[in-house]
Amino acid sequence: MVPMRKEAGDTPFVQELKKIPGLKVKIDEPLARYTSMKIGGPADYLLDVERSAALSRVLKLLDRCGIPFCVLGKGSNILISDLGVRGAVIRFAGEFQQAEWVEKDGEALVTVGAACPVARLARAAARRGLSGLEFAEGIPGSVGGALVMNAGAYGSEMERIVARVEGVTEKGAPLSLERGEMVFTYRDSHLPPGTLVTRVCLRLAKGKADDVGLKVRELVVRRKSSQPSGYPNCGSVFRNPPGDFAGRLIEAAGLKGKRIGRAEISVKHANFIVNLGGAKAADVRGLMDAARAEVKKQFNIELQPEVRLLGEWPPRSAAE
Ligand SMILES: Cc1cc2nc3c(=O)[nH]c(=O)nc-3n(C[C@H](O)[C@H](O)[C@H](O)COP(=O)(O)OP(=O)(O)OC[C@H]3O[C@@H](n4cnc5c(N)ncnc54)[C@H](O)[C@@H]3O)c2cc1C
Repeated sequence: MVPMRKEAGDTPFVQELKKIPGLKVKIDEPLARYTSMKIGGPADYLLDVERSAALSRVLKLLDRCGIPFCVLGKGSNILISDLGVRGAVIRFAGEFQQAEWVEKDGEALVTVGAACPVARLARAAARRGLSGLEFAEGIPGSVGGALVMNAGAYGSEMERIVARVEGVTEKGAPLSLERGEMVFTYRDSHLPPGTLVTRVCLRLAKGKADDVGLKVRELVVRRKSSQPSGYPNCGSVFRNPPGDFAGRLIEAAGLKGKRIGRAEISVKHANFIVNLGGAKAADVRGLMDAARAEVKKQFNIELQPEVRLLGEWPPRSAAE
């Protein structure tokens, strides 16, 4: 049973949490600042886990107390509801940002914590002249989020470089998956439900630092010319349907620039929704509904969201 939010600060559950070394606990914490969209109500408990030992203790405690939880990476592919998240939100920090590099025989294996920003890792790889992660420069997510989403760009994606994934089940049991045991599809890694990714091992190819750096810079220029900047957003809102582009369809449906509240379908790229300042999750969801309905009506294509919805959403009518 989830405790009432108003009482959340002084329950035995919270007292137990506060005894766990390597864990930072925030109660009733607004989540907007932890997302690229800058939208989202409070989490009952925001738990920053800095050590492996803390993770297993936290998961056991959550299980014993019947508190639901979810994982948040850098919040760059997430829309959190205005009502926020009941239960706990777990984020990785501390030791989960570290990377270990082993280079030999023309390739390298990097084992990296889930909390490491994937773009930072891409730059570190480029400095070492290691090729394979160039596409990730400019993706504002964590390694864990990129793995879960099978993030990709410009013809490459995580699945091409993953060698192994380490994690735990939702009850805290360790889990290790070799590449051959995993199935990736477009923007999905199909991990066993409830898996928390703690570390990822990536296989990169030895190249020349100058060549790798040049490719990274080229992709940065391409990204800047095609994507909106300046306003908070969550990247592509919808998956591209087979053989087409969600942005092209939304633009062709006449929705570029459509606004609800302070949210807008970007005038630069119609598969982006931007927060003009003070937008609500409900505004963004309203624009998503409008885009889906109009594209269905005009082109008979069902757009599927790429952005993941998190938290407690108000009930919707049967028509929605
Ligand atoms: C400006 C912009 C540009 C973008 N460009 C691209 C792009 O080119 N290509 C692309 O693919 N994406 C892109 N994205 C989307 C996003 O950055 C990626 O999907 C990214 O990989 C998400 O990582 P995250 O850490 O932010 O995950 P979050 O958004 O925090 O979470 C995404 C999902 O992963 C889960 N998750 C996160 N970490 C873990 C973990 N350790 N264990 C278990 N589950 C976890 C969450 O529960 C959630 O379901 C872009 C976003 C923005 C804002």
